[in-house]
Amino acid sequence: MQADIQRWSRTLIPTTREAPTDAETPSHVLLSRAGFIRKVAAGVYDHLPMSWRVMKKITAIVREEMDAAGASELFMPVLVPFEFYRETKRDEAYGDLLMRVKDRKGNLAALGPTHEETITELVKGSVTSYKQLPLNLYQVQTKFRDEARPRAGLLRGREFMMKDAYSFHMSVDGPGGLNETYDAMHRAYSNILRRCGLDFTPVEAESGPIGGSASHEFMVNCASGEDTILRCPVSGYAANVEKCEIGERAWSWGEAGSGGAESVHTPGLPGIDEVAAFLKLTPRDMLKTIVFRVTDEGGGWVLAVVRGDHEVNEGKVRSASGRSIVLAEEKAAREAGFTIGYVSPLAAKKFAGALVLVDPDAATPGVWATGADEKDHHVKGFRWQDAMGERLGDASYVKVADIRNALPGDPSPRAGGSTLVATRGIEVGHIFKLGTKYSDAMGFTVLDAQQKKHPVIMGCYGLGVSRTLAACVEMSHDADGIIWPAAIAPYQVVITCLKPEHIHRAESIASDLSARGIDVLIDDRDERPGVKFKDADLVGFPVRVTLGDKALAEGCVEVKKRGSEGKGDLVKFEGVMDAVRQHLGGR
Ligand code: ATP
Ligand code: MG
Repeated sequence: MQADIQRWSRTLIPTTREAPTDAETPSHVLLSRAGFIRKVAAGVYDHLPMSWRVMKKITAIVREEMDAAGASELFMPVLVPFEFYRETKRDEAYGDLLMRVKDRKGNLAALGPTHEETITELVKGSVTSYKQLPLNLYQVQTKFRDEARPRAGLLRGREFMMKDAYSFHMSVDGPGGLNETYDAMHRAYSNILRRCGLDFTPVEAESGPIGGSASHEFMVNCASGEDTILRCPVSGYAANVEKCEIGERAWSWGEAGSGGAESVHTPGLPGIDEVAAFLKLTPRDMLKTIVFRVTDEGGGWVLAVVRGDHEVNEGKVRSASGRSIVLAEEKAAREAGFTIGYVSPLAAKKFAGALVLVDPDAATPGVWATGADEKDHHVKGFRWQDAMGERLGDASYVKVADIRNALPGDPSPRAGGSTLVATRGIEVGHIFKLGTKYSDAMGFTVLDAQQKKHPVIMGCYGLGVSRTLAACVEMSHDADGIIWPAAIAPYQVVITCLKPEHIHRAESIASDLSARGIDVLIDDRDERPGVKFKDADLVGFPVRVTLGDKALAEGCVEVKKRGSEGKGDLVKFEGVMDAVRQHLGGR
C-alpha cells in the first residue's frame, strides 16, 4: 500500500515555544505547542493537519474493529429536533449540557450530545419484524456538550469527536442477544485501545444520564486522569469510584443507652467539619442524612444515612431502595417539612412509607452526633436503639445497605481479606446495556414470530476519538515533546534535510519507505538544524532520518528513534528501510 509523502514547507505545522496560558495538562500544552490544535472558543478547537492525520488513523482503527465486530457505519446529523429529547426526558437529565439552537422559524433543536433518540427514531421507522434484528449501527460524528468547565484541550471539549454505536435486539441472552453484542464491543474496544498503544483498564461503571443496567468504562491508566478507579489486587475487580461495591462490613445497632441525647445550639456553622469542631468531635463521630425524593408513582422519601466523613452514593441508594429516586430539591424538601442542613434519621418518622437506608459504617453501637431536625441545632448522644427502638427491626422502615462511595482501604467485594486500592484514569470509552429505556420512551416495538408486539432491547457504545488522541499524548511524551506510537503517528518518519541540495536523496528514500506503507514528511524548510531537530522531537515522529553532508559522503544517513538517547545510528542507504522498520516495531 502506497503511503503519504508530504513536505514540511507545504503543510501547516505552526510550532511555538509558548503554550496558551490556560494549558495545564501535558496533552493540552504539547498539542498546542506542536501545532496540532488551535483554540477557536472555549472547548472548541481547530484540528490542524497533523492532528487530523492522527484523528483519521484512530478512526481507521475504530472502523476496522467495529466492522470486524459486525457493526455497520451510517451517518446522522448533528442537529436533533428538541422533541426527541423531551420524549425520553433527557432534556432534563442533561440540563444545561444540552446545546440548544433555534432556527429561523423558531423551532428548537439540540446539537446532539449522543444520538440514542435519533437512531431509535430511524430504526423504528424501518425495522418492524424480529427477522430484521439484531442490528448494530455506528457513526463517527461531532458531538456537542455545553460543559460547565471545558478543560485540558481535547480531553474535555464542548465540541468533540465521538464514535457512537447502537445495537437492537429481541433478547438479552442467547444468540443475537444484547449480551453477545455487548461482549463483542467490549473486545473491540480492547483491540482499539491496544492498537493505539494505550495501557488501559475496563472498569464497572455507572450509566449516568444515558441510563441502562450494566455498563463499563474504558480507562486509560494515567496518574493525571480525572477519574478515580478502585481495584482489588487479588481478584482483578476494578470499578469507577461512582460504582465500586464495598465488601462485607460488620454492623450492629448496639444496646439501648440511658437516654442522654442532648440538643445543642450550633448557630451559623456552614459544614460538617465546622459542626464537628464546635462539638469537639470529628466528622467520623457524626451521622450525615441526605434526603432523596421518590419519583415513582405515589412519591415518598428515602433518607440515606452515612458517617460524616463518607459520601452518599446516589446509584447505590437507588438500587438499595429499589425505587426511582432523585436528590431532593431543597425547596420541595423544605416545603415537605425537612429542615435541610439539620436532618436526622428521626425525620423519617413524620412521613408514612419513608425509608431510612443506613450504611454499615453508620450502623454501629457508638454514640453519634446528628442534626436535630431544627435550624441551627444538632443532637449529641444519639443512639440508634434509643432513637428508633423497635422500628429497627422493620426492614420496610430501616435497612442497612452499602450506600456510600468506596474508598481505598475498604474491603474488596470480590476477595475476602483483600482491600481496595485507588488509581487514576482517563475515560476514553463507555459501553452500556440500555435495555428498553429508549425503545419504551419512543414507542418502538417489533412483531415477534407470533405476530405479537415485542419490546426492543438496546445497547450503546461510545468512544471519544479526540479524547483518545489526547490520552495518547498524556501517556507518551517527554520533556522535548510528543512520542507517537507508530500506528497512529501523523507521519511515521520525518526526513530532515540539512541542506536544500539533499532534497533528491530525501525524495528517493521517502518513495522507498512510502512504497512499504510508511508515511513520510520531508523537512525541506530553510531553517537551522537545531530548529528542525527540536520541531521533529516536539511533533513526535517516531523515527527521524537525517541527511547531512558528512554522512552522505560515506553513503550513509543518520537514523534515530524518537526518545532514544544520544545520536542516531549511521546507516548505509540500502539499510535505511530495515533500520526504520525495526524502530517502528517490525512493520
Ligand atoms: P465524562 O464523565 O468525562 O464527562 P461522560 O461519561 O459524560 O464523560 P459518555 O456520555 O460516556 O461521556 O460519552 C462517551 C465518550 O465520549 C466518553 O467515554 C469520552 O471518551 C467522550 N467524551 C464525553 N464527553 C467528552 C468531552 N467533553 N470532550 C471529549 N470527549 C468526551
Ligand atoms: Mg461515560
